[in-house]
Amino acid sequence: MEERRGRRIIMFPLPFAGHFNPMIELAGIFHHRGFSVTILHTSYNFPDPSRHPHFTFRSIPHNKEGEEDPLSQSETSSMDLIVLMLRLKQCYAETFRQSLAEEVGGEETVCCLVSDAIWGKITEVVAEEIGVRRVVLRTGGASSFCAFAAYPLLRDKGYLPIQDSRLDELVTELLPLKVKDLPVIETKEPEELYRVVNDMVEGAKSSSGVIWNTFEDLERLSLMDCSNKLQVPFFPIGPFHKHSDDHPLKTKNKDDDKTTCWLDKQDPQSVVYASFGSLAAIEEKEFLEIAWGLRNSKLPFLWVVRPGMVRGTEWLESLPCGFLEDIGHKGKIVKWVNQLEVLAHPAVGAFWTHCGWNSTLESICEGVPMICTPCFSDQHVNARYIVDVWRVGMVLERSKMEMKEIENALRSVMMEKGDELRERSLKLKESADFCLTKDGSSSKNLEKLVSHVLSFDSYAFAS
Ligand code: UDP
Repeated sequence: MEERRGRRIIMFPLPFAGHFNPMIELAGIFHHRGFSVTILHTSYNFPDPSRHPHFTFRSIPHNKEGEEDPLSQSETSSMDLIVLMLRLKQCYAETFRQSLAEEVGGEETVCCLVSDAIWGKITEVVAEEIGVRRVVLRTGGASSFCAFAAYPLLRDKGYLPIQDSRLDELVTELLPLKVKDLPVIETKEPEELYRVVNDMVEGAKSSSGVIWNTFEDLERLSLMDCSNKLQVPFFPIGPFHKHSDDHPLKTKNKDDDKTTCWLDKQDPQSVVYASFGSLAAIEEKEFLEIAWGLRNSKLPFLWVVRPGMVRGTEWLESLPCGFLEDIGHKGKIVKWVNQLEVLAHPAVGAFWTHCGWNSTLESICEGVPMICTPCFSDQHVNARYIVDVWRVGMVLERSKMEMKEIENALRSVMMEKGDELRERSLKLKESADFCLTKDGSSSKNLEKLVSHVLSFDSYAFAS
């Protein structure tokens, strides 16, 4: 696609796979529409630019130049997520300002900044100061955003902080959520959690528009509710990864080929794919229960265990001696997969997921039923919608993750409930496919987004 002058966008993703992936997919969508894209990325978790040759990458150094990286990967893998977010904001606020000013001061006109909603105020203040319009990308769903936006009310009414005695109570203001579904993150800094959430919501309210990786038929009511609350232009144009066949995350490596080769040998819809995303960490005891549950189910399984995901261990060393030999070719454990490829493979029959929004949407797009074990934040909301609203999955609560329960849940989704769940999943997949056709809602919203962004040129935004 030929890039046209005056169509330049700067993006500022949050440096985690669940946020970076949708941002890079969005970059691909803009690129297809003739925009050139520069990605400002923290030096923390800096991606390999050679994997994304269509875009210009610029690394933002941390504020303490010359000093050791205050956010080295080893330190952060076990860090409280809220503390990590605060550190990121502290470490990169000033250098982000400098980098953006340099980019905007360059020769080519910049249409706008697209920043991850979680960066909140720091991007608002900087964009205003520099005089560039700011559009926000919300990488999560609209249903969970409604719950985040309701934090002040939830605190007033005593739902937050969550009390164990009220876990199963319905939150009448946010049906169908129960108290246990509210999107919270365990942290030693609860007041900071409220601040991070408030910052995200207020930052979206003051933006020139919000882009959503969702589609109208999936979250119509929640989108309307959020729209009423934020009163800014809304662009639900998801699922991003389905806009084009050559999207930026389709590249594969040798390990992906081995995984595909293994999947090719399995029967159609026979495999349980298990993965808990890029951030969730589990205890060794839970890891062993999962391992035995998968093995005892006697179903073929593909399981992603990220190095460092099991607290206190490097990778698989806590598995009992002989476990891997015992499962033989029936199960495959890997460090990472190309999840889009895996979910699209005909051998995959169910996805045991932590219900991160990207995973949820990716599964919906392939019509794969889910077993939901949410761990934190919006994952609880997503799980409730998967099970009770879209009815394409079953819940397996983390607190009940014992080998027998696991075995039963996996067999139930693959066997007893399999047909019913698959039928509904395929219907939902059809509506995901439809929203990207010429007359579909996401295609129309994308047209509006492109016009909206191009109209920024004609505004004198900064004085
Ligand atoms: N992912 C992947 N390979 C893996 C595990 C995850 O490609 O082995 C991708 C997945 O496709 C998704 C993202 O990482 O796009 C995870 O995002 P999600 O919102 O599901 O969860 P998070 O990592 O933010 O908790």
